Amino acid sequence: MKILNTDILIIGGGSAGCLAAIKAKDNAPNLDITIVEKAHIRRSGSLATGMDCLNVTCIPDSEYPPEKYMEQGEWIEARDYLDEKLHYILAKKSYGVVKDLEKWGIKFAKVDGKYQVKEQFLEILDSQDLKVTLAAQVAKRGVQVINHTMITSLLSNSQKIYGATALNIRDGTFSTIQAKSIVLTTGSCGRFGIPSSGYLFGTFDFPGNAGDGFAMAYKIGAELTNFEYLKYHYYTAKDLHAPLGKFYLLPNENRIKTVDSEGKEVDRWVPPTKEGDQPTGKAPLFIDASHLGKHEIKILEDVMFRSERKIAIKQYFEDRGLKLGQDLIELRRSPLAICGGHGISGLVTDENAGTTVEGLYAAGDVAAVGIQYLSGAFVFGGIAGISASKYALKNRHVEINKQEVEEYKEKLFEPYRRKEGLPPSVFEFKLRTKIRDYITQPTNEKKSRLALKWIRRFRREDLPLLAARDFHELARAVEAGFILDCAEIAAHASLWKRIGSQIIIKRDIETGNMRMRRHKLPRREASEVEDMP
Ligand SMILES: Cc1cc2nc3c(=O)[nH]c(=O)nc-3n(C[C@H](O)[C@H](O)[C@H](O)COP(=O)(O)OP(=O)(O)OC[C@H]3O[C@@H](n4cnc5c(N)ncnc54)[C@H](O)[C@@H]3O)c2cc1C
Repeated sequence: MKILNTDILIIGGGSAGCLAAIKAKDNAPNLDITIVEKAHIRRSGSLATGMDCLNVTCIPDSEYPPEKYMEQGEWIEARDYLDEKLHYILAKKSYGVVKDLEKWGIKFAKVDGKYQVKEQFLEILDSQDLKVTLAAQVAKRGVQVINHTMITSLLSNSQKIYGATALNIRDGTFSTIQAKSIVLTTGSCGRFGIPSSGYLFGTFDFPGNAGDGFAMAYKIGAELTNFEYLKYHYYTAKDLHAPLGKFYLLPNENRIKTVDSEGKEVDRWVPPTKEGDQPTGKAPLFIDASHLGKHEIKILEDVMFRSERKIAIKQYFEDRGLKLGQDLIELRRSPLAICGGHGISGLVTDENAGTTVEGLYAAGDVAAVGIQYLSGAFVFGGIAGISASKYALKNRHVEINKQEVEEYKEKLFEPYRRKEGLPPSVFEFKLRTKIRDYITQPTNEKKSRLALKWIRRFRREDLPLLAARDFHELARAVEAGFILDCAEIAAHASLWKRIGSQIIIKRDIETGNMRMRRHKLPRREASEVEDMP
């Protein structure tokens, strides 16, 4: 058995994973740090092609200080289900992120030397190569990066985490990684609902994120929360599901309009309600920029074609012969996702980014900090790295249970040995169709029970038939299993009413049963929260 040894293992080299590695290495330069990344660190994760805003930025002594964010930040909408203390930490440390990024060469919008923070605490940045910049900072510090390799399970004993298993998705190498502490930064479950294009990978979130972290952490008994709150990214260009830049970059009167099929203006940012979140107006909805002049259109196109999914967006407009200002751009609700960055679901974490499993830290979209965006991935990624390094300095490696790993490996490779059977993509389509039918909001008891019935059937009849022609397909089969786990957790959570309290979900590792409890979060006034350096 191939065993790799490292002090800290970081799972996922996206936004949070990079910051975790950088801060861990800066805190403890002598520790060995390894990032295992399913894709390639230079262009992986939600940040792959850049981003035009840091959505939570609080500048001390400005119009947008942390205290104001505590009263007016977007997170307030979900206050009953989020830990206020974590949001104060996010607000306080967001300025440090801006400073770090500037040090590494990223430019922020400034007028007369002052940062241009906008409503909702947005700080505009010019960062087409932000991910490449982060990857370079990781490399500069001598962090080992293993690309094209997927972590398939976490290894723990009843007390703590001590390693993980990995599969190289190109050559099928299976390895076991022994680590003193682990940082989980695997992002969201972007491949959850079905996109309007029908393509499994046509998601708003990074399509490599299939809920791996949620499922793996659940299996070793970590606590998860807010899985009954699933996230749409509201209305995005039909079939493309990319953000199309920030239309609010233009002053109010020049904003882009959303109109219905009769040309009536509607609000496309209507938050989800019990009845569903269709804005008023007759579908389909469209983006209308015909009232804007050439100058404004140029500003918008510059944003759209220069960051966040820029290549896909440009191609989308070119292929369809669409011109902003001349043509209406059809909108459609983006597919359902499970996410702690845009949404509020994920692993329960504390102010040190610690999960409820000893030695396991989590940050970014996989953690239930909620509505934390890229800023949260950076802030808590950094905190997770520092915490993991402190833990690794104080603790030793734990012996790997080789027999357990060998048994797991046998099971993992079953679809590859089978060769003939159900292709993972066919199964994933089936599964995500049922997710769309039964786990999509608004949910009700009947729908949730039907979802669970289908999930049981999938486990019994479909999983044993999965067949992979190559190692890439084998990874897809593992991912499909993760999506199924996430669906099961979400369907169970939906059966519970959550009035004013969180529902905490956890697997009892002795019995394998799912346990749930309600947790009333304490209310803290911002002034009572300990200040962060
Ligand atoms: C299209 C889009 C636009 C956005 N725009 C903004 C914006 O303007 N401003 C803002 O503040 N926020 C924005 N966000 C949100 C922000 O990008 C995310 O919250 C943040 O990047 C999440 O970081 P993360 O590290 O948690 O996940 P990611 O950056 O997605 O990284 C997760 C990584 O884990 C890897 N991975 C997953 N599973 C495994 C596994 N089993 N083994 C190994 N590796 C694995 C993936 O390949 C990926 O590289 C946007 C998000 C999207 C999707």
